[in-house]
Amino acid sequence: MKTPIGILGGTFDPVHFGHLRPALELLEELNFAQILLIPSQHPPHRPQPEASPAQRLAMLQRAVASEPRLVVDARELERDGPSYTVDTLRSLRAQWPDTPLCFCLGLDAFLGLPQWYNWRELSSLAHLVVSHRPGWQLDSETMSEALQHWLTTHRADSASELHDALAGKIWLQQVSQLAISATGIRRGIAAGHSARYLLPDPVWDYIQQQQLYRP
Ligand code: ATP
Repeated sequence: MKTPIGILGGTFDPVHFGHLRPALELLEELNFAQILLIPSQHPPHRPQPEASPAQRLAMLQRAVASEPRLVVDARELERDGPSYTVDTLRSLRAQWPDTPLCFCLGLDAFLGLPQWYNWRELSSLAHLVVSHRPGWQLDSETMSEALQHWLTTHRADSASELHDALAGKIWLQQVSQLAISATGIRRGIAAGHSARYLLPDPVWDYIQQQQLYRP
């Protein structure tokens, strides 16, 4: 079996260390060949991003310029209409028919999965790797019954199962807990504060140059 590829989707409005550090840890601890960072065009479940698709893409490219294992993939920006993850995974599966694909998401996103379009189909296209995120718990109060059942029936016993099949398993992974969110960064900038040390310097330089997130 080929070495798995990780996939991290998001609005990245802007990308920050809470995306990048956990992504690198997943890549190294789970032995992925690379992680694709895929910015979404029209996120279906949430308000529209403040920065344009081109600006979000430019920030991502600046963030990973010196890390060849994190690769920006613009396929959702090149597609019209809403960004449904199942469609993206189908297109990735067509490109890599015999490579395990691991769709990575934070615990907050995993808990909201039952609101996603055709969410149960995700596990036929990829594995799911859920990383812990500060402020979010995985238990019977936070998970819907449908999600609990889905987790129980798909949960992997060991991380090596991500390497043994193309798709179908759910794995929970501990990562460094960084209480950073794009919402917090946007609010801070709007209030006139610096975002330095919450995201890579080239991203902060770009935000200032483009005057992003100001009131
Ligand atoms: P916003 O505050 O605008 O909702 P965000 O900071 O949550 O943005 P997204 O682009 O929506 O960032 O997140 C993309 C993915 O990264 C999601 O799966 C999310 O769970 C995960 N993620 C974002 N921030 C963190 C963090 N600090 N720790 C772990 N995972 C994170």
